[in-house]
Amino acid sequence: MGQQQVIAIDGPAASGKSTIAGLLAARLRVPYVNTGNMYRAITMFALDSGIDLKRQCSGKVFTPLLKKLKLEYVRNASGEYELLVNGVPPGPKLRSPEVAAFVSPVAALPGVREWLKDIQHDAARLGLIVMEGRDIGTVIFPGAKFKFFLTASPLERARRRLAQSGETFDGATLESVARDIAERDRIDSGRAVAPLKPAPDAEIVDTTEMTIAEVINYLAGRISNGRS
Ligand code: C5P
Repeated sequence: MGQQQVIAIDGPAASGKSTIAGLLAARLRVPYVNTGNMYRAITMFALDSGIDLKRQCSGKVFTPLLKKLKLEYVRNASGEYELLVNGVPPGPKLRSPEVAAFVSPVAALPGVREWLKDIQHDAARLGLIVMEGRDIGTVIFPGAKFKFFLTASPLERARRRLAQSGETFDGATLESVARDIAERDRIDSGRAVAPLKPAPDAEIVDTTEMTIAEVINYLAGRISNGRS
């Protein structure tokens, strides 16, 4: 497979990938596809369909469920690509703690990953895109033209996640959020199919000590060098 017009941004939970990928895409004026939201949408759809994911998280449950689900990226009025779940925007529940608690076991199901692969491949028809997730550079687009793996220390990631919510927090909350993030990483890295890991040819960028603007400038610089 030749080089694909994809800027792949992978990395662990709360590493700042979504913020960085969204801003980078805006800077480059190309579409941005957040694949974590796709896994979250499937998880939310299962919960809304009354599935008890604590007890019933299996391929057998998801095969019939996915037949009733349509995920698509469409261009909205402001020119951004937006995820629609059965024709409607998923709303704030997509990023809720309830969905986050179940998304990693759902994403570990091979049938779920296979189902999403076609939708993710389809997005590359949009031309150059920024696609963000865990396995974009390894499995979905191994021939991606640019591959970055963003990381940050576990405590810094927990701090960023809490800062995003805008609420003040204490040390105990920080530790508890760090534990939840570590648990998600543990499941994502240990699964048999498409585990979270950098592609051998990905550039690993540790953002612990970097501001958002510094990361964007760095990536944009790497991309413009690579394009020339
Ligand atoms: O990126 P985000 O934290 O929203 O992703 C939610 C979850 O979706 C991850 O913890 C992971 O289990 C799953 N995921 C995945 N592969 C991707 C993107 C996300 O398994 N490409």
